[in-house]
Amino acid sequence: MEIILGKTSGFCAGVKNAVENAQKEVEKTKGITYCLGELVHNKQVVEELESKGLKTIENIEEAKSKTIIRAHGVPKRVYQTAEKMGIELIDLTCPKVKKIHNLVEEYSNNKYFVFCIGNSKHPEIIGIQGFGNKNFYVIETLEDIENAITKLEQSNLKKLLVISQTTFNSKKFDIIINNIKQNLPANIELEIHNTICKATELRQKETEELSKTVDLMIIIGGKNSSNTNKLYEIASNNCKKAIFIQTKQDIDLNLIKDIQKIGIMAGASTPKNSVNDVIKYLQEKGN
Ligand code: SF4
Repeated sequence: MEIILGKTSGFCAGVKNAVENAQKEVEKTKGITYCLGELVHNKQVVEELESKGLKTIENIEEAKSKTIIRAHGVPKRVYQTAEKMGIELIDLTCPKVKKIHNLVEEYSNNKYFVFCIGNSKHPEIIGIQGFGNKNFYVIETLEDIENAITKLEQSNLKKLLVISQTTFNSKKFDIIINNIKQNLPANIELEIHNTICKATELRQKETEELSKTVDLMIIIGGKNSSNTNKLYEIASNNCKKAIFIQTKQDIDLNLIKDIQKIGIMAGASTPKNSVNDVIKYLQEKGN
């Protein structure tokens, strides 16, 4: 059995930075270090850090001392609340997400309406929205465009900025952009910033290419990880057999019977040791 691991698999720069710095912080701090939301969408990584003193909280109001802001970032009001509470923040927001915060703040102040392409419930989008104002609309699918344009028209603003969640599917982004262009009133000035992270784009591209050449595609990552879910979607569209697992325990051994070539790709928040565990397990159990 041949196992091919995607070169772009695993931790991206933003997650690596967040995990390494959180590790340093929990080791340095005697007692609890708070983290606003799960540090990364990966159970094993979070559990390991929690065993060393990291405490995940859902609201900044629950913080009693130093609090980590994870790579996804948070809305502006969180910084303001922490300041009022006298809470020191360890800001591990990915620089690429920070750039989007600055972009949204600047354009919103300059009377632009903002369309943000992504998942409205994802913490990154909630954070980004928190740097804008009421003239902000999240587009998840083509069906949302009509409503988004209605909101833009109701606002009476004549300028539109379009951005994206960093982990959005690039092909879907292009389709949505084309549709916006076709339906946008001619008097609206349009500015598009493709803010999909390069790391995401490369990983998605490699997943697509690899999926086409193997008999089974295994995607490793947290079930609540947006970028890993997208990898699975891409793998399923390009390989007859694709599975999404969190750990090696999730592998049904019947699936790997008679398989010649397995492709593996891991999401941006999946640590190396989880990937190595899966590979070792496949090598032991495979033919
Ligand atoms: S996927 Fe890109 S933008 Fe998101 S945390 Fe990683 S490096 Fe940053």
